[in-house]
Amino acid sequence: MGTAIYPGSFDPITYGHLDVIERACRLFGKVVVAVTHNDAKQPLFTLEERRRLVEQATRGIPNVEVDAFEGLLIDYADRRGAKVVLRGLRAVSDFEFEFQLALTNRRLNGEIETIFMMPRDTFTFLSSRIVKEICRLGGDVSPFVPPEVQAALEEKLRTAQ
Ligand code: ADP
Repeated sequence: MGTAIYPGSFDPITYGHLDVIERACRLFGKVVVAVTHNDAKQPLFTLEERRRLVEQATRGIPNVEVDAFEGLLIDYADRRGAKVVLRGLRAVSDFEFEFQLALTNRRLNGEIETIFMMPRDTFTFLSSRIVKEICRLGGDVSPFVPPEVQAALEEKLRTAQ
């Protein structure tokens, strides 16, 4: 199969995102992890920092490409010649928003399909927001993120305080 785009803010990338990426890599010829801006969120890391962390975390996976984009996802997918957009679903709470997003994108470009993947059950509770909160409060985030992400979080949250 062709190329799938996995868009997100990845602020920062977690083992939940990585689980989805690894699953997708077994189904698609290429998975483009596309880091972008989310209007609803004030990110801790800059776009470039987030992109670099995704790059480090996915280094061992051969058919992954990491990119960043601004603007409409469907325009980006078009530019990349991708027909599939990948999103992760953790729990029912993700569904409402993801459903809206997928159908809006379909309305904007009927050629692009959104495909949802569920992570391993142990990662269904995991979110970047919770990881940041744990780290900010001095907790150990090593079960949730790769070592380089943990280091970046500690560095960022230490200098922020
Ligand atoms: P966005 O700001 O676009 O929601 P995120 O980085 O928060 O970006 O998430 C990107 C995608 O990955 C979303 O579809 C989200 O539901 C999914 N995702 C986030 N965390 C997990 C996880 N632990 N397991 C599976 N999917 C996840």
